[in-house]
Amino acid sequence: MRQVKMYNPKIMLVTGGSGFIGSNYIEHVLECNPDLVVINYDLLTYAANVGFSEEIMQQYPERYKFIKGDICDESLLSEVFSNHSIDTVVHFAAESHVDNSLTNPDVFLQTNIMGTNALLKVSLKFWKERYGLDVDRCRFHHISTDEVYGTLTLEQQDIFTEQSPYQPNSPYSASKASSDHLVRCYFESFNLPITMTNTSNNFGPRQHGEKFIPTIIRSCFNKEAIPVYGEGKNIRDWIFVKDHCEMIHKVIQHGQVGESYNIGGDNEVANIDLCRTISELMNKLDDDSFDYQQLITFVKDRAGHDLRYAINMDKYRQNIGGAKHTPFGQALRTTINYNLSLLNKDALT
Ligand code: NAD
Repeated sequence: MRQVKMYNPKIMLVTGGSGFIGSNYIEHVLECNPDLVVINYDLLTYAANVGFSEEIMQQYPERYKFIKGDICDESLLSEVFSNHSIDTVVHFAAESHVDNSLTNPDVFLQTNIMGTNALLKVSLKFWKERYGLDVDRCRFHHISTDEVYGTLTLEQQDIFTEQSPYQPNSPYSASKASSDHLVRCYFESFNLPITMTNTSNNFGPRQHGEKFIPTIIRSCFNKEAIPVYGEGKNIRDWIFVKDHCEMIHKVIQHGQVGESYNIGGDNEVANIDLCRTISELMNKLDDDSFDYQQLITFVKDRAGHDLRYAINMDKYRQNIGGAKHTPFGQALRTTINYNLSLLNKDALT
């Protein structure tokens, strides 16, 4: 493993910290880093978990603060940087739902590209003046997706590495690809100390109901059709959000400035198999003999639907450490139980 001096964030601005992954990340870092202060900067769009801040504030009143704001708002961002002496940015804020990007791409370009640029500009200005861009004193970590690499065929052996060409196929992935390029170019052009991670499909507590796994669980619960695009053959690599958050933080601490790292779940699953697995777990929920698998319903395929994503994590393993992967069944049960608790239902035992 290559030795890099450990980076130690002190006052962190987490953008999109009320969203699915950002909220899990905040929980993780506050619990594991007793001296860390976290400022959650979030616009609270439809995708945010509005109750999260209150919950976490009660646990960490001295070390957590929420600020409602848009990442495109440079003047508010500058004020926040100065008032709180931010030394680290962990950038989750984005429009994140591929389906929405097909019907309304503009907001994806605005938030994911222009918003990232605004955040980079403000970080650069503040850290240049305050820290002379010293890599031991400031850091910008960008969260991205494996979708920037486009699609794999079912048979393809050479799965996505950090060297894979960018070939985004949806307005969402194109906007994320653009933001990745901007982050990298702020390092190359201006020496902004950045790191970046590209990750596969997350699942777990606090994921918005529009996403695939919460949709399957809710459909089972309501005994409604479980909608599956095409023939359900599309493959995704699923990673439990808690594992992802742990690995993001390890990259921030141990990653090489200017580098990106792929993070996957080593867990490729076809959509149809995912529906079957969750349906089987849901079958155990109640006594009646209803088989939830009968709810699986194929619907017209999504435009530009990538067939397969799979991630090669060698760079992470070689440079950062061992990857943590919670067993899939266990992580799915946690996710199902979280979603059932929202519906005031008893957990799976
Ligand atoms: P999410 O949609 O659950 O949360 C996004 C959060 O960003 C929300 O709280 C929202 O209010 C906030 N936000 C949106 N626009 C904003 C703006 N203009 N200013 C400030 N805040 C704004 O998203 P997520 O699933 O938690 O994804 C987080 C990041 O991880 C995104 O950058 C996404 O591209 C990336 N990612 C997600 C996955 C996944 O499977 N969910 C996989 C790989 C990468």
